[in-house]
This record gives sequence, C-alpha cells and structure tokens, in this order.
Amino acid sequence: MSESCCSVTAADRGDSRCPASGFEGKPVDWTTVAALTSGPLPARQGFRLCRDPNCEIVYYGSAEAVLLTRDLNVQPGFKNGSDGLVCYCFLHRKADIAGQLSETGETDIFESVKEEVQAGNCACEVRNPSGKCCLEDVQKTIRRLEKELGVTA
Ligand SMILES: [Zn+2]
Repeated sequence: MSESCCSVTAADRGDSRCPASGFEGKPVDWTTVAALTSGPLPARQGFRLCRDPNCEIVYYGSAEAVLLTRDLNVQPGFKNGSDGLVCYCFLHRKADIAGQLSETGETDIFESVKEEVQAGNCACEVRNPSGKCCLEDVQKTIRRLEKELGVTA
C-alpha cells in the first residue's frame, strides 16, 4: 500500500462484532462505505458489515463510527423492513425471483446478472453494501425460495 496522505491503514483494532447485535461482521472497504453513505463521511477507519436482519446498524468502525440503515442511500435487502434487494447493480429483488419461480417454476435472474457481470457491467464495490458481487447471494436466495415454494430446480 502506498504511503500517501490519503492512505490510512484500515487496521482493524476494534472489536470484530457489531456493538448492537454482536454479529461477527466481515470487513468492508472504505470505498464501499463512502459510496453508500447519504450523509457526511465518517472518519476513515476499518469498517465491518452487520448482516443481522434485526439490527439497524449496517456498518460499524474500528474507531466506533456507526452507520444505520437510514444513513445509507440504499436499503440493504438483508435487513428486516427492506424491500429485499439482492442485486444492487440491476435492482433485482427477492420478490422478483419469487414471482418468476411461482409463475414459471424457474428464474432467469441469476443468468442475467451473470451475463452483466461477465460483460463488466457491474459496480458491486460501490453499489452492494457488502462491496462484493451479488451472485452468491442471488444463488442462495434462489435456492431458499425454491425450497420455500416447493419448486424443484
Ligand atoms: Zn448489528
């Protein structure tokens, strides 16, 4: 890592657990946190993502900054009360997948996201609260819904 004035080592000194829910969050890049914050930027620090559906904290930092769902310009689909976004680049929701599955017994959402990703059309690091590609989450969501709806793949 280069030693410019702007490169602060995001050393994770803080607790790896969410201060509210105790969820063991995975580290998220500063770029992602900065892109998704609708308010002023918190000080640079190592951030982690709380995926506990019942917890209103989305990001918590090693220097105690905390960002709630209402502090972001996107509602993470894994939080209760959200509209269930799974793909933040092309705006596919859990309900879209469920709708396709119950109507036709299959869904083309995974394939369509995959094509866009392969074509280089995604920007997960600044659109997805996890900063990572949504494909894994989309696949998990499809599997879960197939079970719930009794659809055999
Ligand atoms: Zn939490």
